[in-house]
Amino acid sequence: MEEWSTQHFTDSVFHEKPVPGVGLSSRDQTPEADSLPIWNPSAPGDDSVPCSDPVQFVLARRKSRQISVRGVKVGGGAPVAVQSMCNTLTHDIEATVGQIDRLAEAGCEIVRVAVPDERAARALPEIKRRTGLPLVADIHFDYRLALMAADAGVDCLRINPGNINGEDRVSEVVASAKDHGIPIRVGVNAGSLEKNLLDRYGGATPQAIVESGLRHIAMLEKRGFYETKISLKASDVARTVVAYRLMAERVDYPLHLGITESGSLRTGSIKSAVGLGILLSEGIGDTLRVSLASDPVDEVSVAYEILKSLRLRQKGVNVVACPSCGRVQIDVDKLTLEIEKDLAHIDAPITVAVMGCEVNGPGEAREADIGVAGGHKRALIFMKGEKMGLIEYADIKKNLVREVEELAARMAVDSAGVPGDGDT
Ligand code: SF4
Repeated sequence: MEEWSTQHFTDSVFHEKPVPGVGLSSRDQTPEADSLPIWNPSAPGDDSVPCSDPVQFVLARRKSRQISVRGVKVGGGAPVAVQSMCNTLTHDIEATVGQIDRLAEAGCEIVRVAVPDERAARALPEIKRRTGLPLVADIHFDYRLALMAADAGVDCLRINPGNINGEDRVSEVVASAKDHGIPIRVGVNAGSLEKNLLDRYGGATPQAIVESGLRHIAMLEKRGFYETKISLKASDVARTVVAYRLMAERVDYPLHLGITESGSLRTGSIKSAVGLGILLSEGIGDTLRVSLASDPVDEVSVAYEILKSLRLRQKGVNVVACPSCGRVQIDVDKLTLEIEKDLAHIDAPITVAVMGCEVNGPGEAREADIGVAGGHKRALIFMKGEKMGLIEYADIKKNLVREVEELAARMAVDSAGVPGDGDT
């Protein structure tokens, strides 16, 4: 068991003059402050549950039709599903399956693979056999690859019917999708719009993007096919946002959000957070992919951070950390990075606060499920809004990690038998 400091709590853990109303009680305030117990994390009787969210922040979602990608509901009020796309060569089955496994472990819910040729299409049955994630086959132009993919058992086709060169071919693909009971994603990309639309609109405007999407949809609807979701991607936020807004007014199909070719981990994450954040905050979006020139696993973690920040999903640890300043008493930067890394395996929605000093520290730490606020000699630990005691700087990380893991285990026991993953 961990050895805890035997020093009784006094204000000296922070500065000599605590800030009234925040931080720790001053000596001439509550007498019990002087006798705050040294935290004993294994003390019996702690059956607390996470703090309830005091802020009622509920986004109205656009009403959309619901489709299913092998059990993952998309639209119709279902949690916004997180997708990614493999960047392996699909015919390299080992590499592709390995990457899909890593994506699944990170929380990816639907994965897409490119099917550029027959070699890739022939790999699909084995990939399907060895992976559990719903699989989308991404196909351009060649309707035969779509037929092969559907026969291979993929769970969704990404194909634009207007690009496969002929009504008969569209009919064949739609008939195959119906036979296999799989949806189709119409994916319009500003970089590959039809020439007549570019001419008419003077470029790849949001209106041109939307009209392209509506044309593809009409070809499916003409054949009685409605298991469709739509993406309208451009590489800049403004066009993407306007295009999705326009489409959201025109159809009730679920919308797959993304800022395509958005850039590196850093720039792409920022663009995606802004663009997808705007749309999601307006209730638009039923599934998303954060497109990054990076490891696809990064796409999943960034997607969840976007969704968590809008309280649309609650997966995993939410770390609240102050930016630190000249008052900081603990190494917030290092501690935050280490805690995020060490708690990446936790799925339970737990908020952890890492705060540098007494100014905002106790307030934020108190609102978190588990929080720490740096003090002059030691740090102060909070659980569920209660001061639990003091802790040596060197012990902060391992004890925060252990407490979060134990809380996650208790939450798992509490929710056993309750369906769903806690998403809102
Ligand atoms: S909590 Fe303290 S250390 Fe952190 S930014 Fe605020 S004043 Fe600075």
